[in-house]
Amino acid sequence: LIHAKAMPIERTVPTAEDMRAIAAELAGQLRAGDVLVLSGDLGAGKTTFTQGLGAGLKVRGDITSPTFVISRVHPSLVGGPALVHVDAYRLGGFAELDDLDLDASLDDAVTVVEWGHGLAEALAPDRLDVVVTRGDDDTDETRQLRITPVGPRWAASGVRVSVLEKN
Ligand code: ADP
Ligand code: MG
Repeated sequence: LIHAKAMPIERTVPTAEDMRAIAAELAGQLRAGDVLVLSGDLGAGKTTFTQGLGAGLKVRGDITSPTFVISRVHPSLVGGPALVHVDAYRLGGFAELDDLDLDASLDDAVTVVEWGHGLAEALAPDRLDVVVTRGDDDTDETRQLRITPVGPRWAASGVRVSVLEKN
């Protein structure tokens, strides 16, 4: 018996627009209750990726890096799931994360957490781990993107991205 296994997706992403396009395509495979955990350094492209998700889900409001608020809800414009955008990059630890009351939003929204590094498993057992990395050269816009489906939610279906498939 060969088990269906969700494979990671890897892309070399030349521009911010490409990053948004990948996320927008991914959005079509998301449903209420799904969680994405975005890891990567400051300026890697986590918020840019989230903008693509917002476009694909057709939600209201600009998706930005909030300076003071940690979490924003973007309601759907088309009767689909809302996008809950959590910027936890600067959070000190899990005590503060508990204060976010993440669970309350999980069931009826797609939740995206911008996260620094590590311990994503504490956020949600079923999730898409999205890691964005960049090289040392600040003038190089190229990013490496890896999307890893984790948990039973994704075991059978996995995710599909056709944008930049051959790179
Ligand atoms: P983060 O949320 O990870 O701190 P942001 O998405 O806010 O990062 O910032 C990424 C910046 O890099 C944006 O200004 C974006 O336009 C730029 N950028 C340039 N090339 C890319 C790329 N290939 N993918 C994503 N962002 C890119
Ligand atoms: Mg950000």
